[in-house]
Amino acid sequence: MSTDVDANAFPPAATDGLVMGKDGMAALVDVLIGRGFTVIGPTVRDSAIVLAELRSADELPYGWGVELEAGRYRLRERSDGAAFANAAGPQSWKSFLHPARVREWSADRVEGELVLTADQAAPSRYAFLGVRPCDLRAIAIQDRVLTGGAYRDPVYAGRRSGALLIAVECTEPGATCFCVSMGTGPAAGPGYDLVMTEVVDEDGHRFWIRGGSQEGAEILAELPGRPADPETRETARAGVTAAADRMGRTMPEADLRELMAGTLDAPRWDDVAGRCLTCGNCTMVCPTCFCTTTEDVTDLTGDHAERWRLWDSCFDLDFSHLHGGPVRASSRSRYRQWMTHKLGTWHDQFGSSGCVGCGRCIVWCPVGIDITEEAAALHDWTRSGASDDGAAS
Ligand code: SF4
Ligand code: SF4
Repeated sequence: MSTDVDANAFPPAATDGLVMGKDGMAALVDVLIGRGFTVIGPTVRDSAIVLAELRSADELPYGWGVELEAGRYRLRERSDGAAFANAAGPQSWKSFLHPARVREWSADRVEGELVLTADQAAPSRYAFLGVRPCDLRAIAIQDRVLTGGAYRDPVYAGRRSGALLIAVECTEPGATCFCVSMGTGPAAGPGYDLVMTEVVDEDGHRFWIRGGSQEGAEILAELPGRPADPETRETARAGVTAAADRMGRTMPEADLRELMAGTLDAPRWDDVAGRCLTCGNCTMVCPTCFCTTTEDVTDLTGDHAERWRLWDSCFDLDFSHLHGGPVRASSRSRYRQWMTHKLGTWHDQFGSSGCVGCGRCIVWCPVGIDITEEAAALHDWTRSGASDDGAAS
């Protein structure tokens, strides 16, 4: 959805929503495909829960959970058959809204003349099924970054404008999740077209689904189910509240923006630089990182050339290359740039934190660097008084 919707505009039955079983989930995917959407959702592939096109709800990861730790991701089977009791996987929705590779234009030499062709492939109308609350916020942040300023990214805007967002509230956080600290979950915030909470108990496996936009309400009206009963609603809400109480990680209770600004000379940056490989994995998996670079390629004949836009990373040495060399030559300066931007200067640029607490950068860091642990170390340093004693390097 692209605009906020007044929930009071919907009849009570629509806002209270439906309770549906797995047949309702199957119907939801069928209805979305019938309406012309390309449905993207979680599915098991290559020993991970990835985001991919779904042709039926049978492809959802029913009965699969994940074990997450710093530098570690493992699938595990679940006895309850739940589809969404698994935390964020290696991809985020930016893979579809802000793709890693986009051809911007191509050029051909035709009878001695240069012919330029813009790449104007019509974007699919996506339905994103299973958007976590942290990722819902991440999409809102990318909306602000990529379409909220003077320059509106046409690739992102084209894919985003028709996208339907179906959120899933979290009832089982991963060990690396810290959405509570960042105020982004585990309950869904605004911005969805439909929102679901999954419940599995002695009364069965079911989904409490509610509308959040006019289009969401119209889709809801096509689904099989029964009016949401108070018991299911209460169980669902209790599951989300319990998830908030057992978050895997927390950020230090401090103003993170001030913490970043006040620790630029902390010796901790040398410590983390000694571990960081500057591989850029953290930026690739982060749902809010948005930097890109441009690459021109030509074929061997020299008659055809293409311009591609590719994801880039502030961990790349060439990222800050200006005349004479890179501005951030050391891994210390590159890690510090990434983390202080995420938690600090992002506020100055875009009016919010750049971190939504999804924990992906912790899981997919090959050496297990943990942004919450680094923030806690910086916080401890300021509280120890070392920063006032000039102990900085
Ligand atoms: S923090 Fe980890 S994932 Fe990020 S660049 Fe360093 S080693 Fe790679
Ligand atoms: S910085 Fe890490 S935890 Fe925060 S949004 Fe990015 S990947 Fe998620």
